[in-house]
Amino acid sequence: KTFEDCGFSAQLMGAITKQGYENPTPIQRQAFPIVLSGRDIIGIAKTGSGKTAAFVLPMIVHIMDQPELQKEEGPIGVICAPTRELAHQIYLEAKKFAKPYGLRVSAVYGGMSKLEQFKELKAGCEIVVATPGRLIDMIKMKAVNMSRGTCLVLDEADRMFDLGFEPQIRSIVGQIRPDRQTLLFSATMPYKVEKLAREILSDPVRVTV
Ligand code: AMP
Repeated sequence: KTFEDCGFSAQLMGAITKQGYENPTPIQRQAFPIVLSGRDIIGIAKTGSGKTAAFVLPMIVHIMDQPELQKEEGPIGVICAPTRELAHQIYLEAKKFAKPYGLRVSAVYGGMSKLEQFKELKAGCEIVVATPGRLIDMIKMKAVNMSRGTCLVLDEADRMFDLGFEPQIRSIVGQIRPDRQTLLFSATMPYKVEKLAREILSDPVRVTV
């Protein structure tokens, strides 16, 4: 199966080929058609599987397909990750693909100046990559309006739970539009993560690699 078989437009193919991605990885092959169709997904996959592009590429399509959303303010795609290192890696991957389409990606995580992040969010973005605690700080500071959010990704959900981010995740979910698409990725599915998934995802498709 090629990227084209998975439903990507010629326009997005340009950016994919430019990154040197010749064929989709197994998690991408399974996830792309499901996510592009708008359904929620639970992806059981580890780092190194290509899971980042599995949610970033359909997210870009989702944003490009809804020009009416782009007129409003606040991120359309919201990606939560457990650590600043992972958030930064996702940010770099998202930026590679988003930039050619004029979509702005902001990264929000601890260890960086809150004032700088406040200013960046105020300037506007279509995609935000964040650790949960810092994103809550930014919401409280009114740096960002979450009401335009229609695509939420929870990456490494099990690690976010291990780090105690469950209340922050629930709070973020509560501020994003209820008609959102939700994508949950996790290396393992302990009971607590399964329970959250049942509460916040709607009729998800489960894929395992
Ligand atoms: P990830 O699991 O998302 O951290 O991705 C692991 C690495 O694989 C990253 O360096 C990606 O840039 C790269 N990658 C992701 N998808 C593909 C693909 N389809 N072909 C080649 N490399 C890829």
